[in-house]
Amino acid sequence: MSQTSDLLALGRDYYLPVYKPRETILARGQGSRVWDQDGREYIDFAAGIAVCGLGHCNPELTAALVEQAGKLWHTSNVFYSEPPLLLAKELVEASKFATRVFLCNSGAEANEAAIKLTRKWAASKGRAADRRVIVTFKGSFHGRTMGAVTATAQPKYQEGYEPLPGGFRYVDFNDLAQLENAMASGDVASVMLEPVQGEGGVTPAAPGFLQGVRALCDRHDALLILDEIQAGMGRTGTLFAHWQDEVTPDIVTLAKALGGGFPIGAMLAGPKVAEIMGYGAHGTTFGGNPLAAAVARVALKTLASDGIAANVRKQEQALRDGIAAINAELDLFSEVRGRGLMLGAVLKPAYAGRAGEVLDHAAANGLLLLQAGPDVLRFVPALNIGDGDVAEGLKRLRTALAKLVA
Ligand SMILES: *Cc1c(COP(=O)(O)O)cnc(C)c1O
Repeated sequence: MSQTSDLLALGRDYYLPVYKPRETILARGQGSRVWDQDGREYIDFAAGIAVCGLGHCNPELTAALVEQAGKLWHTSNVFYSEPPLLLAKELVEASKFATRVFLCNSGAEANEAAIKLTRKWAASKGRAADRRVIVTFKGSFHGRTMGAVTATAQPKYQEGYEPLPGGFRYVDFNDLAQLENAMASGDVASVMLEPVQGEGGVTPAAPGFLQGVRALCDRHDALLILDEIQAGMGRTGTLFAHWQDEVTPDIVTLAKALGGGFPIGAMLAGPKVAEIMGYGAHGTTFGGNPLAAAVARVALKTLASDGIAANVRKQEQALRDGIAAINAELDLFSEVRGRGLMLGAVLKPAYAGRAGEVLDHAAANGLLLLQAGPDVLRFVPALNIGDGDVAEGLKRLRTALAKLVA
């Protein structure tokens, strides 16, 4: 085994320095506990950025992966194999709205497919290129590829990458009047949003907002695209987050927890758009890889279960209660917001900009935690996390926060 200090030096010397990971080398995980190679144990409230929805090394996911690894790894999409075919059917049935699926490898790739499908759909209706505008919301996050980062209405992700692709328009999240204005001239082809904004600060859509967006889309003949890459797959307490908003989307994108840690993404297309892209219109070499699909089938089935939904509700309450108790003592947060096991604790102005510091203290005290911007602590643990791990994680969080205050 290489020394930790040597490995950290490799990260500093050889990686393109676009990340700033905590100074530890994680080596092993089981459920919601992770160990670094020096034997230190961590409670995991990060789950690989809301990816490991069923914890680390889930035995059923591991079994599916190992079994498929002994059969067939890759065919590309010019040949069929069984796991992605079954996954596509299962996703369509679970979605209650989609009729077809495009399988890919990541969130950004799923959103690119949705962006391209918007344009193709508008083109098929004879709309000129300048009447195929996609509206997205400030504070959103849709990925890092050129199309997805242009949909991401946050300057910090776009700066220096100009020229950006055209045909995007940004409005304030949860502001229906602004959206109505932005759609008034009839040139909007789709509205794309997260039911709960993740990276932008864990901000849920206000009650009734998604229904209002749906109504405006219907009035102006525009598509409703929901990016459920982070909020989907059971995280907010229902398999799809938008079920709680009681709307029917035209397109939903998934990734993150869909593969439980194995990379996979999906674009689900409803009847209005599912027949628009014909042979040759889009593609991907790795998308629907049999290994990824075999794992995702098991993940989907488990994440859709009543047991997971019940645990999400239970542990949401435990986390909210625990954070409230810490806050009663230390007075750090102005608000805890989110849905299900996608929660954000907003730092008070006195601690603004210090979320990164909290993450350092947390890691030093045996807790893996995320931020959502400089002012928000983000809690996205595995959806099957147990009572003991939540309690222990909260204890370590309290210690970390006490150090921040001290
Ligand atoms: C993570 C994320 C993406 C991008 O997914 P990648 O797999 O990193 O490309 C897009 N949208 C949302 C809401 C996300 O949370």
